[in-house]
This record gives sequence, C-alpha cells and structure tokens, in this order.
Amino acid sequence: MDYKQYVKIVEDWPKKGIKFKDITPLMDNGKAFKSAVDEIVEFASKKEIDIVVGPEARGFIIGCPVSYALEVGFAPVRKEGKLPREVIKVDYGLEYGTNVLTIHKDAIKPGQRVLITDDLLATGGTIEATIQLVEELGGVVAGCAFIIELSYLDGMKKLDGYDVLSLMSY
Ligand code: 5GP
Repeated sequence: MDYKQYVKIVEDWPKKGIKFKDITPLMDNGKAFKSAVDEIVEFASKKEIDIVVGPEARGFIIGCPVSYALEVGFAPVRKEGKLPREVIKVDYGLEYGTNVLTIHKDAIKPGQRVLITDDLLATGGTIEATIQLVEELGGVVAGCAFIIELSYLDGMKKLDGYDVLSLMSY
C-alpha cells in the first residue's frame, strides 16, 4: 500500500525548521491503519515475541493493536513521573529537545523476546533509550518496527545489529 498519501507534512511544527510527519490521517483510515498494523504483525510473527514495548504516545497507538494480534502483552515506556510503580529510567536526546523515559521494573522478565514499536524513527534517540531500558531489564530486542523512517537523520545507524522494519522512508 502507498502509505505516503496518508501522511500530512506540517511545516515548522512543533518548532521552526521541523517538517513534522503527521500520521493521524493514516490512523483515521481503517484500511490503511489495518494494513500497516498487519505488516508489522507479519514482520513479528516468526520472532517468538513475548511482549511488545512502545514509547509514549504514538508507540502505544502502533504497539497495542500489534500486541493484540500477536496475543502477547504490551508494556508502556513513559516520560518521567507517569508510571505509578517502581521504574528504571534513562536520559535521551530527541529531534527537538531532551527527555527522560521510564519503564516499570517488572515489565519485562529476563530472557523475554521484545518487539519495540513506534510511529517514527528520526534521530534514533527514543528507540535507543527504549532499547536500553528493555536490555537493562534482561529483555532481548527481537525486532523494532516503525511506520516511518526519516533516513536523512541517520537514526538507523543506532540500530545496527537489530532487525528493523519501517513501512516508509523520507
Ligand atoms: P527520535 O528520538 O528518533 O529523534 O524521534 C522519534 C520520536 O519522536 C518518536 O517517538 C516520534 O513519535 C517523535 N517524532 C519525531 N519527529 C516526528 C515526526 O515528524 N512525526 C511524528 N509523527 N513523530 C515524530
């Protein structure tokens, strides 16, 4: 499917100079959204995934239907102060700013095979931080899946050695 017709490019948002790729039109379209989720499920289906992990907030939107289809759980990675129980945390750099990501300490059991999902790979800071959290808990990152990759930002270089799917590239 040509997913690009469902992506709106928003100039200078959230900051001047950023060309934000808005995937809400893709989510609005039932057939396009299902097709994108199905492609990720297909990618993950032979990886013996035990749990899906996604960073807030759009990683939840992609990860939850994938976890439902795979019949495995979903563990959220959230910004500091959002998860109610004991967490581990990591500092990371974003395309526009810096942040702290956290995950519940008991979200992943050692040895569990993890699929990480997010809507978009930009600089790779978010995925790198999410991988760090998963691996610190003893999880095995079996794959990473994105709807969009911004190839001009070289985030893929941070994913050397990992099995990565992106449905479209800019
Ligand atoms: P990175 O950490 O790879 O630089 O940035 C990726 C993260 O920022 C993802 O969690 C993604 O949701 C968000 N993000 C950065 N730029 C964009 C964009 O242009 N469109 C969308 N939808 N998300 C973005």
